[in-house]
Amino acid sequence: MTAVQVDVHHLTHTCPANPDEPHPYDTRRTIVAIAPGGPCRNPVTVRFGDTTAVIDCGRRLPREQRCPACRITVIEHTVTFTHPGHHGPQHPTTGIAA
Ligand SMILES: [Zn+2]
Ligand SMILES: [Zn+2]
Repeated sequence: MTAVQVDVHHLTHTCPANPDEPHPYDTRRTIVAIAPGGPCRNPVTVRFGDTTAVIDCGRRLPREQRCPACRITVIEHTVTFTHPGHHGPQHPTTGIAA
């Protein structure tokens, strides 16, 4: 199994669509570590004309058919939130005098 650790950073705000409850409007994911699962245990032979090549099953098959080494599991390492405030027509940085 290939394990990918990510830092997840949610940016939340309130806006005219939902002014009462902060909700995520942007999510950033940063990969912090990858633990490779090792060589593919079920390589797939593909044919290009009269040439054949062997590739990792993870490059060819849908997730549920891959061998254990090619399956990717995402682990959320840290999850953080930033709440910059309300976004909307009345946002204080627009500089438009009412
Ligand atoms: Zn919103
Ligand atoms: Zn594989």
